[in-house]
Amino acid sequence: MSQENSKPKLVAPLPAAGSPSDTQCDDVDAGLWSRVCETAATRVVLKSPVLANVVVLALWVLVWQLGRLVEYTEHASVWFPVAGLTFAVLLLEGAYLLPGLFGGCVLMTIWVGRKYGVALTDLQLAYAGMLFALAHIGSYALGARALRLLVMRGTRELPLLVIGFLLIAAAGSLLATATGVAALVFGGMMPAADAATVWLPYWIGDMAGVIVLAPFFGAALVTLNPHKTASLRASFNLNHQRATSQFKYKLLLTLTLLAASMWLAHATRSPNSAFAVFFLVIPYMWIASTESAFCNVVSVALGSVAIALLVHVFELKEFSMVYQFAINVIAANSLFALALPTLLADNIALRRIADTDSLTQAASRAHLEQRVRLDMLRCRMQGEALTMILFDIDNFKRINDGFGHAVGDRALKHACNIAQHALRPTDLLGRLGGDEFVAVLPGIDRVAARAIAERIRIQLATSTLEGGPALTASFGIAEMGVGDTCESLMESADKALYKAKQDGRNRVA
Ligand code: GH3
Ligand code: MG
Repeated sequence: MSQENSKPKLVAPLPAAGSPSDTQCDDVDAGLWSRVCETAATRVVLKSPVLANVVVLALWVLVWQLGRLVEYTEHASVWFPVAGLTFAVLLLEGAYLLPGLFGGCVLMTIWVGRKYGVALTDLQLAYAGMLFALAHIGSYALGARALRLLVMRGTRELPLLVIGFLLIAAAGSLLATATGVAALVFGGMMPAADAATVWLPYWIGDMAGVIVLAPFFGAALVTLNPHKTASLRASFNLNHQRATSQFKYKLLLTLTLLAASMWLAHATRSPNSAFAVFFLVIPYMWIASTESAFCNVVSVALGSVAIALLVHVFELKEFSMVYQFAINVIAANSLFALALPTLLADNIALRRIADTDSLTQAASRAHLEQRVRLDMLRCRMQGEALTMILFDIDNFKRINDGFGHAVGDRALKHACNIAQHALRPTDLLGRLGGDEFVAVLPGIDRVAARAIAERIRIQLATSTLEGGPALTASFGIAEMGVGDTCESLMESADKALYKAKQDGRNRVA
C-alpha cells in the first residue's frame, strides 16, 4: 500500500484561491485579449498619453452610441454604459485621461443637441457639454477615489469590497444623476419640469452602467497595465482569467434562457412575465461560483448587452424599469458570488491545517478522535471488530539529546512513513503528540492487528535513519469491547503500551 493512500483523506485537492475548481481549464477567454494586449500598437498607445486620450475619447463615443440604442426616454437609457467606462478609467488610470473623457462628454452633448434640434448654438451646446462633463466625470471621480481608498486601506475581503463597490456605485450614480440633470437644465438642454420624470431612469441606467460594466472595463484595463494595478488585481481576484471547458455552454444556456424570458414578455405583453428575467440570477450564480472572476465579469457584461438589445428588439420599453433593476440585481449577485471560490478554497485549506499534523502529515489528535468515534459507531452497527494500535518511539529523548532536534524530527517522520505503508487506505494514522502515534483499524480484530503492529515494529527496527541511530518503538493494542468509548479504548491501548515499555521496549503488548 502506498504512503499516499494512507494519509488522512477527508479533504479534497486544494484549488488555487479563486480559480475554477471543478473541471479542466483552457485559455479561450483570455487568449484573444492577451494577444491584443501584447501587440506593438497597444504598447505604443500605452506609452503615449496623447494617443491614450484619443483612444479613450473614441471608445467613450462608441460606448455612448451603444447605450443610445436602448434609450427609452430622452436623456435616459435602459443602461448607460459610459458610466462604467468613466468609472473604470478613473479608478485604474487616473487624471491623465481626463481630457479624453471630457472631450467625449462635450462631443456627444453637441451631437445630441443637433440630433434633437435643441435651440442652442454650437457654443452654447459646448457649454452645456462642459457642465455635463463636470457632473458626470466629477461624480465618478469621487466614486473611484472612494473605492481606491477602500482598497488602499487594506480591505482585502472580497465580500466587503463588493458591498463597498455597490454602495459607491449607487451613491456615485445618484450624484451623477442629480448634478447631470441640473447640468442639462442649466445648460438649456432640458426644461426644469422634465427633471421629475427623468431622474429615476437616469439614476438606475447609470447605476447599471457602473455595476455591470465598470468591472468588465476594469478587468480589461488591469490586464493592459498589470504592474500599475497589482493591488486591485489581487483584491478583486482578477489574476485568474482562465475558463473551464464548460464555460461556453454555461454562457450559451444563460443567454438562451435570457432570450426565452424576454420573448415571453414580448409574447404576453404582461408586466408579470417580464419579471421572469430575475430567474437569470440562478445560472449567473452558477457561473460566478465555478468560473474565474474574469469570466464572471465578461458573462455579466455580455448578458447586460443582450438584455439592453433585446429590450429594443422585442419592443419591451414599457418594462424598461424591470430590466434595469434585473441588470443591477444580477450583476450585484454575480459580483458577490465572486467570493465563493476563494472562501471555499480558504475553508479547505483551513480544514486541512486543522486535520493534519504539520510535521508528519499524520492526522491531528482532534481529527483522529472524530474519526474513531464515527468508525466505532459504524463497526458496531455492522457487527465488525475495531482495533487501535498505540505506539511510542523508545528512548526518543536520547535521540533528541544525542543527535539534535532536527534528527529527532526526521525520526518521527520516518516512523510515521513506515507505519503508513503498513496500513490500508481505510485505516487512519494520527499523531497524539510528542513521539506517540495511534492507528485505528476498522474491521480488524486484535490477532490481525497484532500481526500489523509486529510488521511495523520489525520494519522500524531493521530500517536505517540517515545520520541517526537505530530506532525501535513499543506497541499497545486494544480491541473495541461492548460499552467501550473512544476514551476507554485509548486508555486500554495506553495500558498495553505501558506494559510493553515495562517489559523491556521494542515489543507489542
Ligand atoms: P520512552 O521509551 O519511555 O518513550 O522514552 P522517551 O525518551 O521516548 O520518552 P518520551 O516518549 O516521554 O519522550 C518524548 C520526547 O519527544 C520528549 C520531547 O522532548 C520530544 N518531542 C516532542 N515533540 C517533538 C517534536 O516535534 N520533535 C522532536 N524532535 N522532539 C519532540
Ligand atoms: Mg518515547
